[in-house]
Amino acid sequence: MKGEINEKIPAELKVSLLANGVNFDMDMFKEYKRDFYDNQFVYGRTSKSVMPEHKFPQVLLLGDGVVTALLRRESSPWNLKIDEESRVMLYHHNEFVQEVALPERPPFFGKHLSDGTPTESIIAVAGEQTPGFFIYPDCWFFANGKPCKFCSLKSTRKTAGKNMVSSFSEQNIAEATRLFQNTKWRDIPLISITAGTAETDEETLEYIIKPIKAVHDACDPKIPIHVLVHPPHNLDLIDEYKKAGVTSIAFNIEVYDRNIFKDICPSKHLYYGYDKWFSAVERAVEVFGDYKAFCGLVWGLEPIESTMKANEVMIDKGIGITSNIFHADPGTGLAHRPHLDEESTLTLSKHTQKLFNEYPAARTIFEVSMRSTIDWEAKRGDFS
Ligand code: SF4
Repeated sequence: MKGEINEKIPAELKVSLLANGVNFDMDMFKEYKRDFYDNQFVYGRTSKSVMPEHKFPQVLLLGDGVVTALLRRESSPWNLKIDEESRVMLYHHNEFVQEVALPERPPFFGKHLSDGTPTESIIAVAGEQTPGFFIYPDCWFFANGKPCKFCSLKSTRKTAGKNMVSSFSEQNIAEATRLFQNTKWRDIPLISITAGTAETDEETLEYIIKPIKAVHDACDPKIPIHVLVHPPHNLDLIDEYKKAGVTSIAFNIEVYDRNIFKDICPSKHLYYGYDKWFSAVERAVEVFGDYKAFCGLVWGLEPIESTMKANEVMIDKGIGITSNIFHADPGTGLAHRPHLDEESTLTLSKHTQKLFNEYPAARTIFEVSMRSTIDWEAKRGDFS
């Protein structure tokens, strides 16, 4: 046992690595000889001063299908070293724990679209292997000076992520979709699309829903498309997402406690509102079906009792529950906020697992382990 967790269980090891981060030499991966999939910086910069040339892996593979985000934190008891045979070894202080693997670079990277766009600048691979796009990476809450306090989208796109494409022609979207769908690699059970927040519904239609339709139209055969967006002002637009080919949707309120929500997500509160948010989520359940409309929470921004209550209420209404475990991103309003500790993260993980057992129809967005959430691990029953 290391602290609260049993490090022999990959899901519990992940909890600890997310709570504490891991320490390693900043240039360790820059000098690593073997090829692997390094971080694209699509929307978040989770470690201080990291840039693409540092080649931090997108995820670490802990075994048994479990992957985790790599958060570099110099104060962590966990540390990584590379041995003479180029294996990446995980230690707890000076005690060897296990080897960890690095993700494979998707074979559709390293190519160019017909207009010269590098594929890794337009295709965003979520987690280890789920392809998709971050369209409209320009949330207007930064322009009004009141972004969600944990969000590093703007600073990431100005620094480490500045080579990522920020405007998407339908032709490029279609070409990129055909490319990843036709490249022999792994099965693609789902395409993942995320967008920042547009100020008006007209912009949402033009810059978010239209490109999504281009993805769907280019798919052959058609495959499920999951979308994470801010809900539209006119709730009838939720139907437009479905018509564009979306099969599941997430409107993440992030924080269930009304007062903490106001503080942490000031623009979502001011320009949309807590009650309307849940009306939008409930409308999405009507449009997409039970457990195909999700409302995500960031674990660690409110008391764990509030998160548990939220998930109980939502899952009972057919709303999909999904988590994002808080990481303090440099340059954000919460850069110095402590991470949720292991014990609390484990309590929430076990509670989520219990809910998945009680509501077997409830599903996770992704059918694989993802970076900063234990949804899939809890659904699988990994927590003892
Ligand atoms: S809505 Fe909030 S979390 Fe989403 S991109 Fe804008 S500031 Fe970031």
